[in-house]
Amino acid sequence: MTIGRLAPSPTGGLHLGHARTFLVAWLAARSANGRIILRIEDLDAGRVRPGALEGAMADLRWLGLDWDEGPDIGGPSGPYIQSERMNPYQVTLERLKSLELVYPCTCTRADIERASAAPHPEDEGPTYPGTCADRSVGDARELGDRTFAWRFRVPPDELCWFDSFLGEEQVSSPRRLGGDFVVARSGAGPSYQLAVVHDDATMGVNQVIRGDDLIPSTPRQILLYKALGWRQPVFGHIPLAVGPDGRRLAKRDGSLKLATLRESGVNPARLVGWVARSCGWSDRIEEIPPQEWVERYELAKIPRSPWVITPDSLDELRG
Ligand code: GLU
Ligand code: ZN
Repeated sequence: MTIGRLAPSPTGGLHLGHARTFLVAWLAARSANGRIILRIEDLDAGRVRPGALEGAMADLRWLGLDWDEGPDIGGPSGPYIQSERMNPYQVTLERLKSLELVYPCTCTRADIERASAAPHPEDEGPTYPGTCADRSVGDARELGDRTFAWRFRVPPDELCWFDSFLGEEQVSSPRRLGGDFVVARSGAGPSYQLAVVHDDATMGVNQVIRGDDLIPSTPRQILLYKALGWRQPVFGHIPLAVGPDGRRLAKRDGSLKLATLRESGVNPARLVGWVARSCGWSDRIEEIPPQEWVERYELAKIPRSPWVITPDSLDELRG
């Protein structure tokens, strides 16, 4: 049975880009008669906004998306809010420690920037130069009250994985792209990478559809699956929405937020039809809700280039 998931971060209102990614993830699971889990990813406490959790659920419901397990309805793999799952993540971290697959790193961001001369992609940060890799797990005891991060030891080999959207084998070199990565911080708990792998694995998720901004995370997550002996899901990464300038939609742009569109009277079925057209499932805007796209959903038809949203295209939304 297919089990997919919607995993919003409650860091601000969902926008049109999220609507497309979540619609595609929802249709991918529903078209395979699968189950859908709603999981709230709120570990980045500094970015969580009050009310954003309720707002994200309201936005998804307004679009016509539903789920079979989630914070509001419960289910066998709960809790479904990451900040309520700290103990289980700790158990997984202990496993990585007992395998000596992690080590304590005391480098600051500035240390790492200084030590790595190579340019790095926006958002990704520099490749960790391995400064602390000679430490073992036990060395953490000697650090006293210094704060540190647990870094996962990335093997040197290339990693191959299959992307269900691109329909092709991907080859990446996680040692070169980012290097040893953080799975937890002393005092602050697990990182996104550890939590998402723990959750997808223990919730039985076997289908992941998400934005292609997360492609650099996928090899790291696969390394964690392998290290922990867990079965990895099938990953598919779809292009993000961008503005006319080619830049990613910013959360601060209120006019693109689903809550704003909802309040200004946009018909959600029209929005869904508008997104469906952008995915290549129709050549016009058909005002029909998600359920009725299940039969017509085709992952491979989605264009490979970013989805450009212009002020004109927004006018179309209003019909
Ligand atoms: N919570 C993440 C986000 O909103 C998605 C993580 C994932 O799909 O793995 O960007
Ligand atoms: Zn270090």
